[in-house]
Amino acid sequence: KPSIVWFRDDLRVADNPALRAAVDDGAAVALYVLDEESPGIRPHGGAARWWLHHSLTALREDLDKLGVPLLLRRGPAADVVRETTTAIGAGGLYWNRRYGSAERTVDAGIKAWAGDAGLHVSSFQASLLHEPWEVTTKTGGQYKVFTPFWRTVSAQDFRAPLAVPEAGHGFSGKLPAHDHLESWQLLPTTPDWSGGLAELWTPGAAAGHKRLATFVAGGLSNYSEGRNRPDTDGSSCLSPYLRWGELSPFEVWHALGSKRSESASIYASELGWREFCWHQYFHNPSLATANLRPEFDRFPWAWPGTNHNGSSNNGKHPGHESAPEELRAWQQGRTGFPMVDAGQRQLWQTGWMHNRVRMVAASFLVKNLGIHWQLGEQWFWDTLVDADPASNPANWQWVAGSGADASPFFRIFNPEAQRVKFDPQGKYVAHWIPEFGTPDYPEEIVDLKTTRAEALEAYKEMREVH
Ligand code: FAD
Repeated sequence: KPSIVWFRDDLRVADNPALRAAVDDGAAVALYVLDEESPGIRPHGGAARWWLHHSLTALREDLDKLGVPLLLRRGPAADVVRETTTAIGAGGLYWNRRYGSAERTVDAGIKAWAGDAGLHVSSFQASLLHEPWEVTTKTGGQYKVFTPFWRTVSAQDFRAPLAVPEAGHGFSGKLPAHDHLESWQLLPTTPDWSGGLAELWTPGAAAGHKRLATFVAGGLSNYSEGRNRPDTDGSSCLSPYLRWGELSPFEVWHALGSKRSESASIYASELGWREFCWHQYFHNPSLATANLRPEFDRFPWAWPGTNHNGSSNNGKHPGHESAPEELRAWQQGRTGFPMVDAGQRQLWQTGWMHNRVRMVAASFLVKNLGIHWQLGEQWFWDTLVDADPASNPANWQWVAGSGADASPFFRIFNPEAQRVKFDPQGKYVAHWIPEFGTPDYPEEIVDLKTTRAEALEAYKEMREVH
């Protein structure tokens, strides 16, 4: 009997334990389900849909070489997997594990059904270096602080990546009805805003491996300095490849070698932050919608003008009554603060923003505009090609001060000081804001000093209320 390999956030044929086990078992059919209906599953944003389209195209080519057909289906995953399994008479189901609560509920339901139906189900660890339920503090709980978390996780020996399976394990029977990728309409049309994304990125595992090799041979040696400089190619730009599982964290980890320079160790710990975000998400499924520190439920956000219990707090953060317009200015990169605006324009045009600038832009939204971090998180969710349901909210909560092991609220980035320090020759700003320094460039929409003082006052009030 053939088996089904259900692809999810692991769009690769190398270092794919589920695919490897399925082909070792005999003939295999690959399945990808676009599930926008199961309860609690967050639908992809626009930039992510663009990436997914191209990633599935690349995956199909790689699977073709192995003779494994890829079936695309849209719908609630539980129904689709059941139907497909029955239609091809599969004897087994293979997948790599995912870590969101809604996704795990779906998977558990399918596993129970398959068990009752006498099917064999195997799941594997592939997307994270650690299993969130296996790594616990001495008292058995979740880690809330990064350093001890990473010390524990990185002390493990991570398995070597698996090779691409040999060709010749494909399924040659009749395939059930399935969707054409085009019918999912993942690509933008009117308007088609994806030109800048296509210019910068080539989705798919082959391009991911190439970028990894180039980075390890080049930028890695200077990463400890280079990672902070948006005006250089100082970071790896591997985030979307890791997000979609075109590269596995095991591949990246081992590509760093065993004898590590300071830069390589810092880089490895960035992979650790990715793990830590997923650790938090696993233990806090509402990471994108609830403050990890509940006292932040009382924070008087200027906009939206209600707090957690629905009462209005408009006006509590003076001078911000026009927040929706300020939110738009932030999204469109016309706040008058060049570091923020350059970042937002880079994001809009390429689907990616440098980490340093993400921190500056996020801090500006939350602390200088007084706008709720969730609105920024949603914007990033829609515009980032690497948006994932763990790293995006965890980092927003880090910036807002409401998260685990977060940057304290009172540490407020000054976008001007950040610009002088990290874009000293103004190359980054000049690239993204050609009109900078001309009358066409917008005036500053807020006063940094006043808004900073207001934010600190609001924070103080939040802490004083019991
Ligand atoms: P590198 O510096 O080369 O780092 C290597 C890899 O480590 C990255 O590819 C990424 O997988 C991981 N990594 C590095 N920093 C972090 C971090 N702080 N948190 C989690 N993983 C990290 N990253 C995402 O992958 N998806 C997101 O949705 C996302 N949203 C963010 C939102 C905000 C407000 C902020 C401040 C950061 C966010 N990040 C997110 C983290 C970080 O900005 C990106 O991972 C990084 O910029 C990607 O570029 P790179 O691959 O060149 O990173």
